[in-house]
Amino acid sequence: MTVPASCQAAVLTEHGAPMELLEVPVPQDLEDGAVLVRNRAATICATDVHLAEGDVSSKQAASGLPVILGHEMVGEVVRTNHADIDSIGQPLEEGDRVIWTPGYCGRCVECVLNHAPTLCLNRRGYMASDPADYPHLTGAFAEYGYVYPTSGLVKVPAVLPDAVAAAASCALRTTVHAFDRLGTLDERQTVVVQGSGPLGLFAVAKAVTMGPRRVIVVGAPADRLALARKWGATEAIDITEVPDAADRTECVMELTGGLGADVVVEMSGAPAAFTEGMAMLRRGGRYLLVGQISPAQVMFNPALAVMKQASIVGVFSGAIEHYARALQFMEAHHERFDWTEMITSSRPLTEINDAMDAMRGHREIKPALTMVE
Ligand SMILES: [Zn+2]
Ligand SMILES: [Zn+2]
Repeated sequence: MTVPASCQAAVLTEHGAPMELLEVPVPQDLEDGAVLVRNRAATICATDVHLAEGDVSSKQAASGLPVILGHEMVGEVVRTNHADIDSIGQPLEEGDRVIWTPGYCGRCVECVLNHAPTLCLNRRGYMASDPADYPHLTGAFAEYGYVYPTSGLVKVPAVLPDAVAAAASCALRTTVHAFDRLGTLDERQTVVVQGSGPLGLFAVAKAVTMGPRRVIVVGAPADRLALARKWGATEAIDITEVPDAADRTECVMELTGGLGADVVVEMSGAPAAFTEGMAMLRRGGRYLLVGQISPAQVMFNPALAVMKQASIVGVFSGAIEHYARALQFMEAHHERFDWTEMITSSRPLTEINDAMDAMRGHREIKPALTMVE
């Protein structure tokens, strides 16, 4: 496959401003172990919206400017430099569809001793570089993409459409990672999922397959809650109909015989969801915090965590095992869950700003950009 000298990319030059479509160099020389892909599809994550606004709390998550955003994507292999198998040993050939992780070095305390590659001390993130600087294409909103030598990558099963697999590469892999950290669920237990966006919907699907007594979703708008119900949520609490957090907590208490939820999964990204989730949690309960990236703070009485003997677990991103298992989860359950229902539109790259507006305004669950038909 021939590699053009440059390609189109949507470049963010100012926070809060629309992205501009610019010609960006395509790297012609790859580092040893790197892969060049042609992006087939990218889906938009709420994190992209927060990054575009400059509204993120951690330096690790923040991007400098100018930058190419986008981190949920599927690419097809165009060229490799000594990368002839994927991360689970499958042969890698030109034209194969893949998803890939940030660069995790595999040679630091976090990667090796703590088995926590998402905390890698030498992490090479997406959306990490000025498009003028090599390797130029580190964000998904571009026609081509660069996969670092230290990135894990896995091939996409044939049954999964491009945009669905793209959603696996952030929203679902993070959900798989989160439930890994949770441990087991069984028929005695009730799970509350806070948020009905892509993370919340994937959390509903993942929880349902683990067999709890109840899965209660708390979110809005109604179309998302309807999809959550279709995917197996036993109850849905619409935050527009029950706007007060204390009333929503009361609903959960009623549904759980006054005990509260065994497990709460925070997927909404709203900082106030934390105090609400802690109120809904039963004594001895487990709380997964996943959706939060905002710099905003909330008031919280730490004694509540002590009195409830709560386990509060933060989950950031995912490692290659979570990407691979996200694809396997989608493949295994594609007849039970129609994943395409989450992908609410498909636009060309030139309509990136419309797609971002749709995500920002909650008018869509997950807009996709299609670069290759
Ligand atoms: Zn994301
Ligand atoms: Zn590392």
